[in-house]
Amino acid sequence: MSTITFRLNQVKQRINDAEKLYGRPPSSVSLLAVSKTKPASAILEAFNAGQYCFGESYLQDALPKIEALKEYDIEWHFTGPIQSNKTLAIAAHFSWVHSVDRLKIAQRLNEQRPVELKPLNICLQVNMDHEKNKSGIHPEELFPIAEALSLMPNIRLRGLMSIPKATKNRENQRKPFHQLQKLQQALIENGYLLDTLSMGMSNDLEAAVAEGATMVRIGTAIFGSRD
Ligand SMILES: *Cc1c(COP(=O)(O)O)cnc(C)c1O
Repeated sequence: MSTITFRLNQVKQRINDAEKLYGRPPSSVSLLAVSKTKPASAILEAFNAGQYCFGESYLQDALPKIEALKEYDIEWHFTGPIQSNKTLAIAAHFSWVHSVDRLKIAQRLNEQRPVELKPLNICLQVNMDHEKNKSGIHPEELFPIAEALSLMPNIRLRGLMSIPKATKNRENQRKPFHQLQKLQQALIENGYLLDTLSMGMSNDLEAAVAEGATMVRIGTAIFGSRD
């Protein structure tokens, strides 16, 4: 068995174990394999081991891989910071964007989504750490932005995403995830049909599952460390 296949199975086992430990229904947490900086051959190895959704954070790094793997039925998710001049290519080549952090980016993705494709699935990235220079929508700004997005025909708001400050202790890891889940719940109570809570990475997957993640975004634990 290849290293990537072995690690992929390990990560799936971690997800299953966390679902059991925290009383989540079996298979309620899906796995996004974050392949940023890794070659197409590594993605193909994971694909052949049964992985179907892949996340990329750098457009210039992602586009050649998407082209090289176009004959495979891969679902591509964009997870990185988005500058305005990148929205056209993102709207054309991805099925999901997890990192929408301002209204203007959503507007551009909506305008630029090719008509022959299904609406682009969107998660709003929320800044849960109250850090000034960190990307992400501040919780107070979330509702008006969600409302504006709900009127855009070519994008579909699926839920929230966050990348909290890294910390080792599981209880501390759970706090921002808990807050994000509460925000998601508040939106749902206001009539938004959201089904995706994108949270949890290699080091805090279990804490995210404990707090209701429906999609964990795992890079290092599958593909090894990045330079
Ligand atoms: C890189 C990245 C990940 C994966 O992080 P790991 O710690 O390698 O699992 C997840 N989400 C986003 C947004 C990323 O940029």
